[in-house]
Amino acid sequence: ENFVQVKNLRKVYENGHEAIKDVSFSVKKGDLVCLLGPSGCGKTTIFNMLAGLLTPTSGDILFDGKSVVKTAPKDRQIGYVFQNYALYPHMTVLQNVMFPLTVGKNKRPKAEAEKVARKYMNLTQIDEFADQKPDQLSGGQQQRVAIARALVQEPKILLMDEPLSNLDARLRLKIREEIRSLVKKVGITTLFVTHDQEEALSIGDKIILFNDGVIQQDDLGQNLYSE
Ligand code: ADP
Ligand code: ADP
Repeated sequence: ENFVQVKNLRKVYENGHEAIKDVSFSVKKGDLVCLLGPSGCGKTTIFNMLAGLLTPTSGDILFDGKSVVKTAPKDRQIGYVFQNYALYPHMTVLQNVMFPLTVGKNKRPKAEAEKVARKYMNLTQIDEFADQKPDQLSGGQQQRVAIARALVQEPKILLMDEPLSNLDARLRLKIREEIRSLVKKVGITTLFVTHDQEEALSIGDKIILFNDGVIQQDDLGQNLYSE
């Protein structure tokens, strides 16, 4: 039931900097796990290796028991939500959310793509903005669009890299509740990166504490929530 397994992962950048030093952890299916650590400790480096955007120097990554280190990003069934939303500014909300289903091997007939897009727009409560452009939306609304776009391919794993850090304090509290309830409703295995301890404690089923490329503590606050 360990859906994600990271084994002895290491990353040395080209300039010789060892950003990740022998890191191992696992994530159970359906869990929401927080990677907590200060800026520069290697959280993004780990995410990029999980997503296939960066090749590990050594070690292995298993999804559902299968090594994915040699699997292309598009075949990993991962949804990635970035700190800065990374929406397409010239597209409407609906077009942004549909986009992953209109290209490449996930391409579907337009009506079907729209139907799936609208399902996730409903779950993330952005239906009413379907025809607006991202710059007409607030930060919190834009982040919901980014989450809907990540979920539309129905990935097996959701990676969220400081998704709340561009939001004001009040909205951060609201959106983090929404994210937790959404990922539990969808049942997707989620890794959530943050440098904010309080945020990690409030959202995570489990917290992995990172510092300077190593795990300092695993299983912090496990079963905070009894469901
Ligand atoms: P975090 O996401 O926790 O802020 P990162 O994974 O972005 O940390 O970075 C971890 C460390 O690796 C930092 O010291 C950063 O400066 C360094 N780093 C990140 N990317 C590169 C790179 N392309 N080349 C060299 N060093 C890098
Ligand atoms: P983050 O939003 O995670 O803090 P950064 O601003 O640290 O991202 O990094 C932005 C880009 O610069 C990334 O592609 C990262 O790999 C690269 N980078 C970060 N630190 C270094 C570094 N010390 N040397 C080279 N590239 C780096």
